[in-house]
Amino acid sequence: MANISNSFQKCFSCDLTEKENPLVSIQYSGEHKWVCLECLPQLIHGSKNLDDYI
Ligand SMILES: [Zn+2]
Repeated sequence: MANISNSFQKCFSCDLTEKENPLVSIQYSGEHKWVCLECLPQLIHGSKNLDDYI
C-alpha cells in the first residue's frame, strides 16, 4: 500500500517536503540526500554537518 507521506521528497535535516520549500539534491559520501533552501546555507556555512545525518 502506498504511503501518501512518501509521495513528496523531504529535507533530510528539517523534514520539510518539496511541497513546502524547494529542495536541492545533493550527493555526499555515496549517499543521495535532499536538502531545502533553508538548510542549504547552514550546510555551506558549517553550522550543520552532513556527517551528523549519515
Ligand atoms: Zn531543511
